Amino acid sequence: MTKVMKFGGSSVQDAEKIKHVCSIVIEESKKSKIAVVCSAMKGVTDLLLSSAKIAAEGKTGYKENVENLLSKQEKAVNELMSGNFAQEAVKHIKEKIIGELKNLLKGVELIKECSPRTLDLIASFGERLNNFLIASYLKSIGKKAAYIDSRSIIKTNKQYTKALVNYEESYKKIKEKLFKEEEIPVITGFIGSAEDGSTTTLGRNGSDFSASIIAAGINAEIIEIWTDVDGVLSADPRIVKNAFVIPEVSVEEAMELSYFGAKVIHPSTMIPAFEKDIPICIKNTLNPSAPGTMIVKNPKPHSSPITGIASVNDVSIINIVGGGMIGQPGFASKVFDIFAKNDINMIMISQASSEHTICIVCLTDDAKKALLLMQEDLSDELKSRAIEKFELKENFEIVSIIGENMIGTPGIAGKLFSTLGDNGINVYAIAQGSSERNISCVIKKEETEKAIKVIHKSFLGV
Ligand code: ASP
Ligand code: MG
Repeated sequence: MTKVMKFGGSSVQDAEKIKHVCSIVIEESKKSKIAVVCSAMKGVTDLLLSSAKIAAEGKTGYKENVENLLSKQEKAVNELMSGNFAQEAVKHIKEKIIGELKNLLKGVELIKECSPRTLDLIASFGERLNNFLIASYLKSIGKKAAYIDSRSIIKTNKQYTKALVNYEESYKKIKEKLFKEEEIPVITGFIGSAEDGSTTTLGRNGSDFSASIIAAGINAEIIEIWTDVDGVLSADPRIVKNAFVIPEVSVEEAMELSYFGAKVIHPSTMIPAFEKDIPICIKNTLNPSAPGTMIVKNPKPHSSPITGIASVNDVSIINIVGGGMIGQPGFASKVFDIFAKNDINMIMISQASSEHTICIVCLTDDAKKALLLMQEDLSDELKSRAIEKFELKENFEIVSIIGENMIGTPGIAGKLFSTLGDNGINVYAIAQGSSERNISCVIKKEETEKAIKVIHKSFLGV
């Protein structure tokens, strides 16, 4: 069996965790041909990005961050290895990797500017350090392992910080480069490179996605995403005490769940896996014998009306109100254009058939930014009263019910709204896509916990 195993930042955050993960890897390598993909140690990507920000302000506080990062790495090396292996690893980390990072940040400090391209390069160090460390450790205990920098195999465009993958090129390189020798490739997640060789990243938490691209490239039979929860849960366990692990979900359900806040997996992960029909299994490093959640094309049917509940925190509603929008083709596109040009994401959109208001739901920071831009760019429409006003309503959350069983089943929306209504919870906006796998409603922030609890009870019985 060929398998890609991906370990997230919290599973590889220090020497002890790395040892544990490597024991899982070694056990598995006796049975399967495996490729390993790891994230940066937990917190390291954030540290790198904040260092870049400090340097771009012309300040030197980033130096302390880099020293902390170096001592963290040295400590991990010394806890994992000794003798020559440790010496060589420390030398490489200090002189090559951290050396390059220092130079780069110095440059940013001097020019007081950090472009998205430079930011991606800076962000790449977390994965580079950690996978180098893990491969070195495996070698030091006599295993055949190879550190692979994914910039040589994952090819993207130049949309820095959220680059788009060129699958054909990437698959070609992956096939060329991996499994040439009898060794376990230990591959950096999250990063890739553009045609000109510049470093790109696949977006925050992108290592899952990297693992999936690699799995598709080598035609793996399964992708395992190792994290620190038992799998995909029916709801946030901090809110619903009886939330349970869902044994199987469909690819579409997994996408809906991850888009709507169940943060177990990066939503794009499903794309290459789905295309090549490779199942994804979510596993827990803290509880390796638990079966986890399988994400498959055709999950076994279950009898609950929904599969799970997800939520998005801290959203705001923008209402665009005005009589002049009625029967005006192209009006919505002007609005969408403003969002697109400024790279602002809309989470939900609705327009009532009277066409008198357009309602857009975004993360609050995005909504504020969008509002200012619209007031500027649509000032003629405001002056001519085609738009009466823009309204911003803050302090909301989106709660979504998700599941294949909702498709073609009448009464689900009715049950949802009567559950909320019976509990005195007001719904401010609603969306259901025609896929019917998701109904989302916007609820006041202070009522979402209660909403999730009562919905879980009503639909899933606990
Ligand atoms: N290290 C990257 C991040 O923190 C990628 C990942 O963890 O998957 O976003
Ligand atoms: Mg992560």
